[in-house]
Amino acid sequence: MAVPRHKHTRAKVGKTRMHKHINRVLLNVCPKCKKPVLSHTVCLNCGYYKGSEVINVLSKLTKKERKIKEKEITQAEKK
Ligand SMILES: [Zn+2]
Repeated sequence: MAVPRHKHTRAKVGKTRMHKHINRVLLNVCPKCKKPVLSHTVCLNCGYYKGSEVINVLSKLTKKERKIKEKEITQAEKK
């Protein structure tokens, strides 16, 4: 097994770790339901992308859940 020749100073370790950070995720706002969405991605809340419906979000919901979701989306459109 390879053994490190020299001890890394705290400064050296710090300089390496300086670049090991997580970048901030930039989010856009969905024009239909006003929820935060990743850019160039279908909105999973309302199923719309570029102004047209891509996924039917309401199809797999129960009648009660569907009613709540439809109400939520129409309220967001009015705002
Ligand atoms: Zn949306």
